[in-house]
Amino acid sequence: MAIPDEDVARVRAATDIVALIGEHSALKRQGRRFVGLCPFHNEKTPSFSVNAELGLYYCFGCQESGDAITFVRSLEHLDFAEAVRRLADRAGITVRDDVRETQRRRRLAPLLEVMERAVDWYHEVLLSSPEGGPARDYLRSRGYDGEVVRKFRLGWAPDGFDSLARHLSVPSEVLSESGLGFVNSRGRQQDAFRARVMFPIFDASGKAIAFGGRILPPAPASAGASSSGEARGPKYKNSPEGSLYSKRRVLYGLNWAKQEVISTGEVVVCEGYTDVIGFHIAGVPRAVATCGTALGEEHFRLLRNFAKRIVLAYDADSAGQAAVGRVYEWERQHQVDVFVARLPAASDPAELASSDPDALRSAVGEAVPFLRFWVERILQGVDMTSAEGRAKGAERAVAAVAEHPNPLVRDQYLMWVADRCRIDPALLRGSEARPSGGGSAAAPDRAGHSDAVVLGRRTPPEASRVSLLPSPSLEALSLVMHRRDDVGARLSPVLFLEQRERRAFEALQSHSDLHAAIADSDDDVAELLTRLAVEEPVADFEGVLVQLVREATRRALASLQAQARQLVGDGPELATLAAQVAEVRRDLDLLEVPSSAVSAADRLLAWLAGREVDMP
Ligand SMILES: [Zn+2]
Repeated sequence: MAIPDEDVARVRAATDIVALIGEHSALKRQGRRFVGLCPFHNEKTPSFSVNAELGLYYCFGCQESGDAITFVRSLEHLDFAEAVRRLADRAGITVRDDVRETQRRRRLAPLLEVMERAVDWYHEVLLSSPEGGPARDYLRSRGYDGEVVRKFRLGWAPDGFDSLARHLSVPSEVLSESGLGFVNSRGRQQDAFRARVMFPIFDASGKAIAFGGRILPPAPASAGASSSGEARGPKYKNSPEGSLYSKRRVLYGLNWAKQEVISTGEVVVCEGYTDVIGFHIAGVPRAVATCGTALGEEHFRLLRNFAKRIVLAYDADSAGQAAVGRVYEWERQHQVDVFVARLPAASDPAELASSDPDALRSAVGEAVPFLRFWVERILQGVDMTSAEGRAKGAERAVAAVAEHPNPLVRDQYLMWVADRCRIDPALLRGSEARPSGGGSAAAPDRAGHSDAVVLGRRTPPEASRVSLLPSPSLEALSLVMHRRDDVGARLSPVLFLEQRERRAFEALQSHSDLHAAIADSDDDVAELLTRLAVEEPVADFEGVLVQLVREATRRALASLQAQARQLVGDGPELATLAAQVAEVRRDLDLLEVPSSAVSAADRLLAWLAGREVDMP
C-alpha cells in the first residue's frame, strides 16, 4: 500500500487531468474551467467541471468529485495504490512500492508478457497460416469480418502437440502458471489448447489474462477433414484459474465495452464470447459476458462503478434461473437496476446478431424490469384459457411478486396480475402471503430501502447547475484557493461563521497543498473544497472582505451586547467583556473595515465606559 507521499504528489503533478478525463468525456474550455458531460452519470447537459490548474473535478449533477487519482479509482474500480500506479505508468514515472506489491508485480510480469505473445501468435496463425483456414471459414460463416477478428484479436491454436510452447520458448513453469501449457505424465511439454478458435480474455484495463478456446463444429463428412476427431473435449475450454485469472472477477469484453458502458450508464450481460461479439456487430458495443460461471457478487462489484442499469441478455430459459432470488439484493447493495432483454424463444444473442440484428437491438432497448420478466414467464407457462390455469398462474405470480422489497411495486404488479388472470385484485392482495421464513429478503427492511435508493444518489437531479458561491464566505474560500498568496493572510477563521466553512478555511490555512488539505478533511469539508476548486471566484477580494467583516462584526457585537445586558452591575465580568470588545475594535482597524462596523464597536465601548468599567 504504502507509496510515499512525495511519489503520490509527483504522479499528481505529472498528470494532465484534462487529458485524462478527456478520454472519457469531451471537455470544453470555459474560462479557467473545463466542462463536459459527466462520466459518472447519464446526462444531456454538461454539469461536470474540471479545474486543470488545481487538478480537481466536481459534478454538479451527481456530486462525484476528486482529483486524478480519485477519478481513476472510481472509473476503473481500483484501490488507491493501484490508481497511483496506473497514473504513474501513464506519466512514465516510477513510484516506490511496498515490497509485497513489487514482488507480486515482478511475479506477474513474465506471465502477462507471455500471454501477450500467445495472443499475438494465435492471432497470426489464424490470419495467415494454412492451418488457420478452416477456422477462418468458420468465423466468416458466423459473419465475422477481418475487422471483427482483429478487434477481438481472435486466434487459432493449431492441432500440434507443443506448437505454442516451441514458439514461445519460455521456462515450463511460466507456461504452467499462465495456463498455456503443462507437462504431461510422460514428462513432455504440451500445449493447453489444441485445434481451437481462441478468444483472448482481457482484464478491464486491456491486459490479456486468459483464453477461451472453442472447437470447430464437425466439418461436413469429407475425407481427411479432421485429424483428431475423437476426444476433442468440451465445446468451450477456458484457461485454468491462477495468479492471473479468476473467472469470478472477470467479465469478458469489459475492456472494449467500458467507454460505451460509462457513457450510457448501461451494460448488457450475456453468457458467451460470441454473444459479446454478436452485440458489437449488431451495434450494441456495451456487452460483457461471464466466463463459464454465473453472474455473481464480484462481477457486480466490478460493474457498479461503470453502470447503473444492468440488462441481462441470456437465452430465455436461463435468464430467470440465473438471477432469481438474488436480483433485489444486488439492486439494493450495488445501487443498480436489473433489467431483462426478452430474446425470442430459443435464440441467443450470437445467433440473433447475424439472423436479425434489429431484433437484438430492440430486445435491449425494450428490456423490462426483472420482476416484469419473471411474472410474464410464469403466466406464459400456464394455460391462460382455463379458470384453473389462470388461478395457478395467479398463485405463482403472486409468490414471485411477494419477493419484491417495495410494497408500492408489489401492489402494482398484483393489480396487473389480477387483470391478466381475471381475478379480483382484493382476493390477490389477501393471498399475498409474506414469504413465511426462508424468503430471500428479510421482512423488516423490505419496505423502505428501494425507494430511498431511487430517490437518492442513483437518480441525480437533472443537471441543474445551481449558481454557486451565493455567499461572501464561499467567495472568500474560493479566492483563498485560487489566489492564496495575496488573500490568504488577510483572512481569519473568525470571519467564517459557519462551522463547515470555517473548517474548510482552517484546512486551507494549515496546508500549503490543496490536495493535502482535502485528504486531511472529513467528507463534508472535502466536498466543499473540491466543489469550490472547480469554480471561478467572481467577486473582487476587497468587496468580499468588507462583507465578511461586516457580518462577522455584526454577529460578534450582537452577542457581546447581549452578554453585557445580562451582566449589568457586575464589574469584573464587564471588564472582561470590555477587553473583548476592544480586541474586536483593534481587529477592525487592522482589517480596514467600513466605518459602520467600527462605529458599532465604538458605541459599545462607550456604553461600557459609561458603566464605569476599567477600560483596557
Ligand atoms: Zn455526475
